[in-house]
Amino acid sequence: MTEIPLSVPYVDVVVVGAGFTGLYALHKFRDEMKMSVRVFEAGGDVGGTWYWNRYPGCRCDVESIFYSYSFDEALQQEWSWSEKYASQPEILRYLNHVADRFDLRKGITFDTRVTALHWDDQESLWTVRTDDGNSLRCRYVISGVGTLSVAKKPEFGGIENFQGEVLFTGNWPHETVDFSGQRVAVIGTGASASQAIPLIAEEAAELLVFQRTPNFATPLANAPIDAEQMRKIKEDYPSLREAARKGFIGVPYDQWLPSALAVDPDERRRVYDDRYAAGGFRLFVDSFQDILYNYDANETLAEYLRERIYERVKDPDTAERLVPKGYAYGTKRPLLETDYFETFNRENVRLIDVSEESIDEITATGVRVGEHTYEVDVIVLATGFDAMTGPILAMDLRGRNGIRLADKWADGPRTHLGLMVNQFPNLFMITGPQSPSVLQNMPMGIEDHVDFACDAINYLHSRDLNIIEPTEQAESMWLALVNAIADLTLMPQSKSWYVGANIPGKPRACFLYLGGAPTYRQTCAEAVAGGYTGFYLSKAQAFDSKAVVGEAV
Ligand code: NAP
Repeated sequence: MTEIPLSVPYVDVVVVGAGFTGLYALHKFRDEMKMSVRVFEAGGDVGGTWYWNRYPGCRCDVESIFYSYSFDEALQQEWSWSEKYASQPEILRYLNHVADRFDLRKGITFDTRVTALHWDDQESLWTVRTDDGNSLRCRYVISGVGTLSVAKKPEFGGIENFQGEVLFTGNWPHETVDFSGQRVAVIGTGASASQAIPLIAEEAAELLVFQRTPNFATPLANAPIDAEQMRKIKEDYPSLREAARKGFIGVPYDQWLPSALAVDPDERRRVYDDRYAAGGFRLFVDSFQDILYNYDANETLAEYLRERIYERVKDPDTAERLVPKGYAYGTKRPLLETDYFETFNRENVRLIDVSEESIDEITATGVRVGEHTYEVDVIVLATGFDAMTGPILAMDLRGRNGIRLADKWADGPRTHLGLMVNQFPNLFMITGPQSPSVLQNMPMGIEDHVDFACDAINYLHSRDLNIIEPTEQAESMWLALVNAIADLTLMPQSKSWYVGANIPGKPRACFLYLGGAPTYRQTCAEAVAGGYTGFYLSKAQAFDSKAVVGEAV
């Protein structure tokens, strides 16, 4: 291990990222736990996902009143949401408000990326290196790097040769992009593309949508929230939050019926019509429980959704190509859309099917597929992310004896509770791989995980300890459990980013705990109640932070 000079300053906690996680963690550790904290953020301001993803139409498909912090009643009461599903600018305004309200900015170093995190066996401290060449030591690390923050490298090359503009949905310019009069290509038809396509189509002279796999998509059913509705919501917040905590994905849906196969076709149709019209994730987790477990049950819903596409898209050939086939609904991220299918009825929009003949390259003038080059002025890459593990592994992360996390995870992630890793002490991965993560209302999952970290550190300190690390056995048992639950579902059968299938060469594994948020929370609570079962708790040799030369941060 490289010797770290004493001149490297020390803080108790380093937080990586200033999104939903980083802001809450900073407030919690600094203001409640009275610990010294430094947050590093690669972006120029707070917001994380909502700072980078500024593409037209970007909004959250979990209801605003749940996709928000619950930790502070006054914050809840003073903030009013204008829409059922908040747009990216509104969520970013909210996070800026939170940063100002809790005076968080002074604890954040912006435009600074954490490049390396190395555990020092002698001192039992982490050394954090940043891309400005600086280092910092700390006892605890909170990783708030996000789950969808490292872009997937497209399989095709030549982007650098394109003479027009190339835009990434996940790193969109801060200035308004004017598509009027432009010929635009959107590559990808996932959640990001499905939000951007209808709006780009309204402006562009011509829009070509390159689709490799059609997705199941259902209406978002967004609507404004008026003052009276918001007043009522604020009155009901305690019970709404309580109900949300009981929901499988952290939203209070409560009309889940046991089996799509146990009811007659009329009743099934009634349920599907009702949930389709209600919008959001109601079909996914509030129709029939067995659609995620039983292929025949799933097929009843898949067929219902195919019919809706045939109804909404006028040209039968285009409709046929937009209809998902060969995989189960919900095993790729279901899209929640507004006018997505109707967009393909526009004269200026064309669907280019690249399922059989793939995109070969980007040329100086457009997108080449086989012999044909589609000439365009702007290319929008909505090709997705190296999800779940990509953002953590983007840092050079080394634990005990210099072991690299990338090596440890060569066959897929190994964690305990999707939160901590054996041989990587005191590193808390908020909404990490093998936790409910993206299949849970994220701010709720984030609050739970940050609270877990705070409680664990309080527990350690109350016993004059300062190291927590899961056992290898607990990790193996968690992996077995995550896989066993996944195998009960249809999820592993599809080529989705949930199982690492969107990145060539990425290990195929289930990256999510699929047992639902309440069961997960109970499992964590049981570990805590048992005195942190599955974890080693220990004490590092004395470290005198006051002896460190350098500014307290
Ligand atoms: P994505 O779901 O991974 O979609 C990427 C798209 O690009 C897919 O259609 C994929 O096709 C296509 N693609 C990738 N490589 C390609 C290639 N070489 N040639 C042709 N097509 C290619 O990424 P995303 O749309 O950015 O969404 C990622 C996740 O972010 C979502 O699943 C969701 O969890 C989150 N998100 C959430 C919201 C929200 O409302 N809360 C909004 C946007 C995004 P294949 O399917 O064939 O791989």
